[in-house]
Amino acid sequence: MSAQPVCLYCQQVNAVAASECRRCGMLLPAEAALAGERRLRRFTWFCVGLTIFCIVMFFWLPRSIA
Ligand SMILES: [Zn+2]
Repeated sequence: MSAQPVCLYCQQVNAVAASECRRCGMLLPAEAALAGERRLRRFTWFCVGLTIFCIVMFFWLPRSIA
């Protein structure tokens, strides 16, 4: 089995060191997976931050406006 990355979009076989397809310019699988992992980690931290923000607001804001 070849270690050369194959483009998911145009099936172009690219050089091992290439990070994007030389025919269509899309990110190659290994690079795309890495980008997806980074995005997932950023989304996780966004959720954690949002949760902390909600908890802080819950205690900081007044309970009723009566
Ligand atoms: Zn391609």
